[in-house]
Amino acid sequence: MKRLFAVWFLLGVPVSACAAGPGAPLQVRVLVYNYAGLPDREAGRAQREAGRIYREIGVQIEWTDCPVSGEGARPEACHSRRGPSNFELRLLSRSMVKGLPFASTAMGYALQPHDGPGSLANVFAHRAADLASNRDLDQGLILGHLIAHELAHLLLGPGGHSSRGLMRDGWGKRELAWAAQGSLTFLPAEAERIRWRMRVQAARR
Ligand SMILES: [Zn+2]
Repeated sequence: MKRLFAVWFLLGVPVSACAAGPGAPLQVRVLVYNYAGLPDREAGRAQREAGRIYREIGVQIEWTDCPVSGEGARPEACHSRRGPSNFELRLLSRSMVKGLPFASTAMGYALQPHDGPGSLANVFAHRAADLASNRDLDQGLILGHLIAHELAHLLLGPGGHSSRGLMRDGWGKRELAWAAQGSLTFLPAEAERIRWRMRVQAARR
């Protein structure tokens, strides 16, 4: 059994390998499980925001909404195994987060196996809603940035936090203002690291 450890706004893995060609498309599929029951409007806005942030660094995200109950059709992609380019994103409800060993200010966490890249990210949807409400911001906007942050932990590997920008561990007024302006994003070095690691993963497939 893989040993997992939590990364809450999180961690880094040294990688050494040959990179794929610079022209290779950088894509990742994200299977979304909306356990929080967010309305389509908020969930859609969040995906658009996160997708925009990644497009700006040259990464395309293909979103697939997967049902959380046995009802409704289940897209084929939802049957696929998680992996380095096939992530699972869980939007957790307040009741699901209650009792988890995280600080009250935590907004989500990603799981990072010790023996390879992570592929599962969790976001605490209600805390995005609380933060948005307190700052008079759009819930989908904040949630999208949180999603981008947690997915980045999977792409960056351990040691993913920065002192500023999207990957800062805990956002203040400055980061939230940037988010509202659409300018809260990755630092250039982070963007390059994400692209490089994705090319490495692509070369291994
Ligand atoms: Zn983090």
